[in-house]
Amino acid sequence: MFESLQDGLGSALKSLRGQGKLSEANMRDGLKLIERSLLEADVSYEVTRTFMSRITEQAVGEAVLKSLKPSEQVVGIVYKELVDLMGPVDHSLHLKGKDEVTVLMMCGLQGSGKTTTCGKLGRMLISRDRKPLLVAADLQRPAAIDQLHVLGEQIGAPVFSDRTTQDPVAVCNNAVKEAKKLGADTVILDTAGRLHIDDELMGQLGRIDKRCSPDQVYLVVDGMTGQDAVNSAKAFNDALELDGVIMTKLDGDTRGGAAISVKEVTGVPLKYMGVGEHLENLEEFHPDRMAGRILG
Ligand code: GDP
Repeated sequence: MFESLQDGLGSALKSLRGQGKLSEANMRDGLKLIERSLLEADVSYEVTRTFMSRITEQAVGEAVLKSLKPSEQVVGIVYKELVDLMGPVDHSLHLKGKDEVTVLMMCGLQGSGKTTTCGKLGRMLISRDRKPLLVAADLQRPAAIDQLHVLGEQIGAPVFSDRTTQDPVAVCNNAVKEAKKLGADTVILDTAGRLHIDDELMGQLGRIDKRCSPDQVYLVVDGMTGQDAVNSAKAFNDALELDGVIMTKLDGDTRGGAAISVKEVTGVPLKYMGVGEHLENLEEFHPDRMAGRILG
């Protein structure tokens, strides 16, 4: 079993690299390894099939087989196709002018890193001379309100919360109304998460979406959860029409498979990625860098 997509693709391509002159049969064997490693790295079956048919068509072509360095050509083809699958990426948060209030709605399953990412985004916005307001709309988990206040203090941003209500729609709506008075130009709504997607959560998020009309809706997914991240991206996108996905926990030994599938399955680009627990660990998502990392 391959430990990761990187290892899997790495060894598949190494076996191709070892071959001086390739026959179509050699090439097809090598490509089978690539296919297996994609599936083992949690790239969905449909995505893998589409990917492989594009790769195969090019890789078994006369030009590649007869070239002096066929394996390098295949590596190039795989790289380019991976980049194409994950891109193009628009890193802009589509913020309005500072005299208006831009509302960013953050959603995601519990534990995905949503609250932490709200803090990271707030920090990034401050560094870009914006004035964020963090809004504690995760009323399911009382600790989430405290967590957001701590993050707000760390980055030097105000936090809007209301412990007297159990109505997250009212909290978000009041926060957006108060934003101007609090001197904020960008509102970040930290909405509720659940361990699993359920109708109640989607209903609640749908009501916030309708009432507050956020300018951008971003989903936070845990990159370590593989196919589950892809499934949740699909469900959230069906319910909310996402503008972007932020994939967390891409530091360490995470599989790249989810990053490949999310864009293909939802059509929504990954914009940013979380690469650690600290507030500065938020990076723009670059398909070329991710493809390079996957290929090792
Ligand atoms: P929420 O339930 O979705 O709001 O999740 P939290 O923001 O509370 O994060 C859950 C855990 O994941 C916390 O321990 C965070 O420190 C951790 N976490 C969040 N983002 C990252 C990341 O990019 N990398 C790593 N390694 N940990 C992260």
